[in-house]
Amino acid sequence: MTHTLPEIDAAAIETAARILRAGRLVAFPTETVYGLGANALDPDAVARIYAVKGRPPTSPLIVHVASIEMAQSLVTTWPDAAHRLAHRFWPGPLTLVLDKKPTIPAIVTAGLPTVGLRMPAHPIALALIRAAGVPLAAPSANRFTQLSPTTADHVRRSLGSDVDYILDGGPCHVGIESTVLSLAGPQPVLLRPGGISRPELEAVIGPVVSAAEITTEAHPAPGMHPRHYSPQTPLLLVTNGEVPDRGNGIYLQYLHLPSRADLAVIEMPLSAADYAAAFYDTLHTADRAGRDWIAVDTPPDTPEWEAVQDRLRRAASDS
Ligand code: AMP
Ligand code: MG
Repeated sequence: MTHTLPEIDAAAIETAARILRAGRLVAFPTETVYGLGANALDPDAVARIYAVKGRPPTSPLIVHVASIEMAQSLVTTWPDAAHRLAHRFWPGPLTLVLDKKPTIPAIVTAGLPTVGLRMPAHPIALALIRAAGVPLAAPSANRFTQLSPTTADHVRRSLGSDVDYILDGGPCHVGIESTVLSLAGPQPVLLRPGGISRPELEAVIGPVVSAAEITTEAHPAPGMHPRHYSPQTPLLLVTNGEVPDRGNGIYLQYLHLPSRADLAVIEMPLSAADYAAAFYDTLHTADRAGRDWIAVDTPPDTPEWEAVQDRLRRAASDS
């Protein structure tokens, strides 16, 4: 897939940086989704993120940095695995969870002793962090449990005037959230599948276990809210094009032919990367169509599809 880099508007970056330094919120593009950013070192600014999103305070935020050195300055240890992964995948869609220094306020990490760090692969995001001169705490720029935004228009529709400034960098080219990997324990743990696949991680650091393999009811993975990334319209995962025979729906077709002739159909891209890039924008469009249901053909069950499968399962869950 090809994509062109957005122009950087230096005056807009400077305005946004000033707003951040004043403790206010700026929505900015990254390669994954749009983030709702605040100065990560200012607890009052970070509190505004939780208020605007309606996000429970138990859900930790990712801290965005502009360099490996900035990441190292925020943690107490920088293990060899972090060194190798950061050199291989940063800037990029990989969040590393490490033991934090006290300079990161507790509100950023929901009280956890660890912090999730990532260097985004987007020139506007990097320019903004550098201009602000501080790391930026940023979850996705949408209300809690709603679909993630992959365009500035999605951000406007979700947050409206509750966000102080929006930097528009066009559509996000990865289109799905970062992979979250914990390096804080004895073994690397995949907390959330995302833009970097498990086989890509394992090629650099060896075996990675997934959170589901080691979590229990007493020790859930932090921030793993089951219903997340959901459209308002009920979303159904289907196989072989077998959509419901009742009501008026829209079908996100993968390889199968729809079983009903009267259906609105959106053809999805065949590669996992192109599917992910189109994913949220297609769900926003399907949701706005105001149908009774959105049926989505289940994509292949292979490692490169793990992140898309995860988001689809969450979007389909009504718990
Ligand atoms: P998002 O709302 O997309 O920014 O989600 C942030 C993700 O990062 C969630 O899945 C969190 O569980 C994860 N995360 C951030 N910080 C930490 C941390 N300190 N420990 C574990 N997971 C974290
Ligand atoms: Mg989110």
